[in-house]
Amino acid sequence: MIRLEGVGKTYEDGTVAVQALDLAVPRHALVVLVGPSGCGKSTTLKMVNRLIEPTAGRIFLDGQDVTNVDPVQLRRGIGYVIQQVGLFPHQDIVTNVATVPSLLGWDKPRAKARALELLDLVGLDPSVFAGRFPHQLSGGQRQRVGVARALAADPPVLLMDEPFGAVDPVVRGRLQDEFLRLQRDLGKTVLMVTHDIDEAVRMGDRVAVFATGGRLAQYDVPAAVLGA
Ligand code: ADP
Ligand code: ADP
Repeated sequence: MIRLEGVGKTYEDGTVAVQALDLAVPRHALVVLVGPSGCGKSTTLKMVNRLIEPTAGRIFLDGQDVTNVDPVQLRRGIGYVIQQVGLFPHQDIVTNVATVPSLLGWDKPRAKARALELLDLVGLDPSVFAGRFPHQLSGGQRQRVGVARALAADPPVLLMDEPFGAVDPVVRGRLQDEFLRLQRDLGKTVLMVTHDIDEAVRMGDRVAVFATGGRLAQYDVPAAVLGA
């Protein structure tokens, strides 16, 4: 589903972030990129949705070279969740989530209904949370809103960059489990970044271990990664 062939990124200042990366993410799989800080994980993720353009190699989504797809069109099919979810502070969370279906041209009532459905799906009961603003939520709850918003256009692919990084350990375990259930139920293909090997092994169908210098050191099932 997602395929990287010989992908590299050297930034304008000469920093080599990613080198000669080959990686295939099967449909409906959750693949985790793990490794020390600065080893090129985020750069790799952002090349898939073209927030960053590679300086070598090619990236395919469903067999299509992403450089041949209009970036706006591309990102419609790719949900993106980051650690510091950028919610609009002056809008309640329903409006935050409804923004995406509105951009897709859905009328207001339909966009709102979709937002309520998504909030419920990520475990935020609309009868309790619908009127709340981002500052009235805990960190874990804000991450849930971020996931709801990323799912709003029903993209087949999700990119997640340290999605549970800012959440305390107890809440994190719960979010990980709930997210795995959601991912399987909805059949999403997920590429996720973490620096936490435990999280990688717990969540990944496959784990890509990056080494300093942006090289892939290992790509295997979690048990094999732990055994190494
Ligand atoms: P990770 O996500 O694994 O922490 P990143 O992909 O963020 O790593 O960064 C990989 C390397 O590229 C690091 O050395 C980082 O400092 C560098 N880097 C990231 N963004 C830029 C940029 N815009 N310009 C120059 N170097 C960058
Ligand atoms: P968590 O364990 O999920 O991190 P918190 O301890 O941050 O939760 O919050 C506990 C509860 O208090 C949550 O259900 C959250 O919705 C509620 N809460 C937190 N901040 C506010 C606020 N400013 N206004 C209303 N409710 C809040």
